[in-house]
Amino acid sequence: MFGAIEAGGTEFVCAVGTGPTDALVSEPIPTTTPAETLQRVLAFFRAQGPLQAVGIGTFGPVDLNPASPTWGYITTTPKPGWANIPFAPTIRDALGLPVHFDTDVNVAALGEHRWGAAQEVQNFIYLTIGTGIGGGVMVGGRLLHGLIHPEIGHMLLPRDPAWDPYEGGCPYHRSCLEGLANGPALQARWGVPGKDLPPDHEAWTLEAHYLGLALANLTVCFSPERLVLGGGVMRQTQLFPLVRKKVQYLLNGYVQHALLQEGITQFVVPPALGDHAGVLGALALAQQGHVA
Ligand code: ZN
Repeated sequence: MFGAIEAGGTEFVCAVGTGPTDALVSEPIPTTTPAETLQRVLAFFRAQGPLQAVGIGTFGPVDLNPASPTWGYITTTPKPGWANIPFAPTIRDALGLPVHFDTDVNVAALGEHRWGAAQEVQNFIYLTIGTGIGGGVMVGGRLLHGLIHPEIGHMLLPRDPAWDPYEGGCPYHRSCLEGLANGPALQARWGVPGKDLPPDHEAWTLEAHYLGLALANLTVCFSPERLVLGGGVMRQTQLFPLVRKKVQYLLNGYVQHALLQEGITQFVVPPALGDHAGVLGALALAQQGHVA
């Protein structure tokens, strides 16, 4: 049996098991102070009996370099109390188990690859569009880390002030993808939460424009075989056809593949694991790391 932690800015979810059919998932644990939250995480695992390894998918930014003295730390997060916290080492030392550590979105990509909407592809990108925006990238069946890890949400996008006077809400970049298209940007621009806007509201045309720009950029940069779009904002399912059309419009026939023409519904897809992609992906990470 393996353990899994999906660590989010508002709550943690833990699980034990080996996959979607047998996973026992915890009640959400609120993200308060690191001491309090990690105590509750450890209590959940200790109550479940022996584990072989634990996988963690977490908000960040994080240090993923195994050779670094701060491997497994949450690093520069603006979340109060959580900057420079030795997250993975704390779990490893408290439980005396191997711990495998990656970003929340890389782990969700792993979950979708193992059990979800990206099982038969080796090159794809998982994006979450919610309060934050982030993406996990799989290349040749392996998660991409590179310099640190991808920060797709902070991709810089053009903004037409005549169409969209809202300057964007990212404290680092203003008008990056996250600053223009996350849930808080919808609320700031239109004065109500996105879920309260009708499906035919012009907000969704603009949202699809920004997501289409990001997906077109990702398509030309990474040549993915699939783009899986999850997160709270994508529960607005009317976005999917709008985004697909926008990607086709922006690429303008330059990238020639059937998946970008009549196969576009197989190219831009919703996740299959829904809200459990993260915690199941962490379970996959625990097992994969154990084998590797
Ligand atoms: Zn940004």
